[in-house]
Amino acid sequence: MIKLSRSMLDHQEKEALCRVVDDGYLGMGSEVRHFEDELKHYIDSENPPYVACVSTGTAALHLAVQALNIGPGDEVLVPTLTYVASFQAISATGATAIATDVDALTGCMDLEDAQKRVTKRTKALMPVHYGSGYGQLNELYAFAKRQNLRVIEDAAHSFGGVFNGQKVGASGDVICFSFDGIKNITCGEGGAVVSRDQAVIQKVSDLRLLGVVHDTQQRYQGKRSFDLEVEEQGWRYHMSNLNAAIGRVQLQKIEQFAEKRRHLYKTYLKFLSPDMGKPLQIDIENAVPHPFIFILSRDLQNKNPHDKRFIRDELRQFLQENNIETGLHYKPNHLLKFYAQKTPHPFPVAEDLWDRMITLPLHCHLSDGDVEHICFLIQLFVSNLSKVSGSSTIFSSSSDKKQAS
Ligand SMILES: *Cc1c(COP(=O)(O)O)cnc(C)c1O
Repeated sequence: MIKLSRSMLDHQEKEALCRVVDDGYLGMGSEVRHFEDELKHYIDSENPPYVACVSTGTAALHLAVQALNIGPGDEVLVPTLTYVASFQAISATGATAIATDVDALTGCMDLEDAQKRVTKRTKALMPVHYGSGYGQLNELYAFAKRQNLRVIEDAAHSFGGVFNGQKVGASGDVICFSFDGIKNITCGEGGAVVSRDQAVIQKVSDLRLLGVVHDTQQRYQGKRSFDLEVEEQGWRYHMSNLNAAIGRVQLQKIEQFAEKRRHLYKTYLKFLSPDMGKPLQIDIENAVPHPFIFILSRDLQNKNPHDKRFIRDELRQFLQENNIETGLHYKPNHLLKFYAQKTPHPFPVAEDLWDRMITLPLHCHLSDGDVEHICFLIQLFVSNLSKVSGSSTIFSSSSDKKQAS
């Protein structure tokens, strides 16, 4: 089975974990402090930003929103095409997540659509580096500046990427990363908030430890706060030494992972043809591609006008039968009951991408041969389709659908 994604771990992560176990202090302590230090120097060695590590990427986004004093009555614009984590992070603060449509080529927040959805209650934008691309991020920042809005980048897909000539996180307002098991680097579970705004990171640092004021500084000296002070609602969102120890090893391998991911991405480009569809547009030389999101050609989709997702679902099943795991990133959030939008504006681009998208395997265990094999199967599927063109029961009950070899 070729998995959609997989962590890349070896004896070095094992040894790092053993070091923490031998030391005997598993909670938040010196490993986390070192990981934060190494992260900020990785992001910008000359002028490091402030960094606070937390338990997940979702926690990073939640605390970023709260640290900007956004809450009940406030609105945050977020592209509908994202993991539900972005939406949950906003609603967790009591603020309202306002979905925007996305750009057709990049799948990222569409500026023009976002402008239509701004109200007096809008406090921030949360653009997502969807599929590891940056979309109209510069234009979105200019827009945010004009409107006096904060920007929280959901950079879960783009750790290690370069934007405007600097590492993602080195410029911008508040940038959030995820280090869950499948991201560009992993801690097992983990996340980080990065900013040049010291007050924001100070606040995130307190909020991750139940809001206990300056508890981080105590813990980094091997102490705890007993005679403590709390000024607002906090959360138990800090990172443990165990997770940080894995992250520190992974961080040393990021350039190696990045090169491999870019290489696999380019191998896909070599073997996928326009009659199949096209990937989301990203600047591959400056990205570290996390998911490989492929948008199937509209001509294929038109083969069954009664069910717009028919071809996408058939292809996924065909690949599954040939031991290739695929995914869907993501079901638009405005289609979820909890986030159904009351605005009159529709989401035509996001819904069209959803009908035609398929995420193909991309991780460091894959070989060029694996990618070539996956592309061969897609080509086979497409040419079988054109043989029976016009039929809406293309593969059902036919045997050539199964087990291509
Ligand atoms: C993974 C991811 C998150 C959440 O990160 P976790 O570490 O899994 O909580 C948020 N947004 C996007 C786009 C993601 O891919």
